[in-house]
Amino acid sequence: MTQPHKYDLVVIGGGPGGYVAAIRAAQLGAKVALVEKGRVGGTCLNHGCIPTKVLVRSVEALHLVEEASAFGVIVEKPTFDFARIMTRKDEIVARLVGGVEGLLKAHRVEVVSGTATIVEPGLVLVKPASSKQQAAGNQPPASSFQELASGSVIIATGSVSARPPIAGLDAPGVLTSADVLELKEVPDSLAVIGGGVIGLELAGIFHGLGTRVTVLEMLPTLLPTMDGELARRYRNYLQRGGVEVHLPARVEEIRPKGDRLAVRIADSEEEVEAEKVLVATGRVPYTEGLGLEELGVKRERGAIVVDEHMATNVPGVYAIGDVTGGAMLAHVASRQGEVAAENILGRPVAMDYRAVPNCVFTLPEMAGVGLTEEEAKERGLDYEVARFPFSASGRALTIGETAGLVKLICERGFGKVLGMHIMGPHASDLIAEGTLAIQMGAKARDIAETIHAHPTLPEAIMEAAKAAAFGEAIHYRKR
Ligand code: NAD
Repeated sequence: MTQPHKYDLVVIGGGPGGYVAAIRAAQLGAKVALVEKGRVGGTCLNHGCIPTKVLVRSVEALHLVEEASAFGVIVEKPTFDFARIMTRKDEIVARLVGGVEGLLKAHRVEVVSGTATIVEPGLVLVKPASSKQQAAGNQPPASSFQELASGSVIIATGSVSARPPIAGLDAPGVLTSADVLELKEVPDSLAVIGGGVIGLELAGIFHGLGTRVTVLEMLPTLLPTMDGELARRYRNYLQRGGVEVHLPARVEEIRPKGDRLAVRIADSEEEVEAEKVLVATGRVPYTEGLGLEELGVKRERGAIVVDEHMATNVPGVYAIGDVTGGAMLAHVASRQGEVAAENILGRPVAMDYRAVPNCVFTLPEMAGVGLTEEEAKERGLDYEVARFPFSASGRALTIGETAGLVKLICERGFGKVLGMHIMGPHASDLIAEGTLAIQMGAKARDIAETIHAHPTLPEAIMEAAKAAAFGEAIHYRKR
């Protein structure tokens, strides 16, 4: 092994946490190395947020063409080419990965390909990632290992799909969310274990492509972290659309049955049969091979424990993103990356989780920020709720997407916005207004008195705010 290369910062993991941390540190003048064993962009870009959004868009396009006659547009019954949909996904992912690589290069971040172990604080050993020896199952020679010396290290290794205690998880046809994105054909039927964000996004995509989808969730509600009213509405919407939803249904076993899979539910005689089974029961922090035990890095239930500066208990070692547990959201990881980089480079800043938007890219979309009504109740807060339905929005009507509503949770009397929850068209974009409102401590009145462009979807937020601030919206009368 040659002399260690010297850096100010080594970032381990090139997902939306790690690459953002690396770029921010470079902007602040640091010499940065980024160690990545696969492609930069992490789960989000390669097997998560981005590829699923490409598929969602194809389903939306299909749906719109199917509904075209309602808009006076006459087309033949549409079909789709799954291979082309998947190629488009791969092209968009490749383009974005290339974009991140370009940004890293432009900021002179050195990308080191391999698997990192933190030998001691300030010293990282990198085993090459994709040598031919490894492909043949052999260890690469020690001479090909690289040592990186650095003042600080940020661990941004993300998470992997959880393996729940379900018998038969290794049966052929049992898929993770990453496997599903590599399918060559649309399955005729899919059992989705887990009615959380991943389960429902993928359930929606395959339902939209004609797969018979069954969702099995062990809790009495779908999307347990979302506002209950939205989750209940979405369940009705799914069921009306023809998706079978079993609640509460804890899956215990999956077993091959002929050319299909049979999924057994605990305390039930019932079995669900499907061609493929998607296991979407959560994700767990990924720390394999990092050497955390030896280093003495504190963890709780697998997640690295960090303070508000993203520092671990070991001086010079920071951690960000999914590996620290919590909400496991790309946008949180990115902000944590900035916070870690700034603290390392002498700009003290603390993570602020007051306004973290949560988006579910189903059809219709759902998004929330701040407190859910259940949380407001649990905390014993004196709150009031105001709603505005998209069926009363001119813009929603023109685009033919009137399902859903804006729901605002505000402090009673004072009107401070505590939570905003949206189900409907572009909910994931609209939630930015609620996020800013909560971050800035805005009141419903602030939103209500802000002029919103007409005719647009954000007017629905303004109207909900008028209902909260003045007791009534202008364009909706409660019956
Ligand atoms: P999740 O925790 O949101 O949902 C998993 C669900 O599986 C839970 O509702 C749980 O009760 C259920 N479950 C567990 N074991 C079960 C069993 N044996 N039988 C039936 N149901 C069972 O996890 P996820 O959907 O896998 O997502 C993982 C993480 O990724 C989350 O933190 C999520 O926030 C994040 N993510 C976010 C987005 C987004 O923001 N759009 C998209 C994808 C993933």
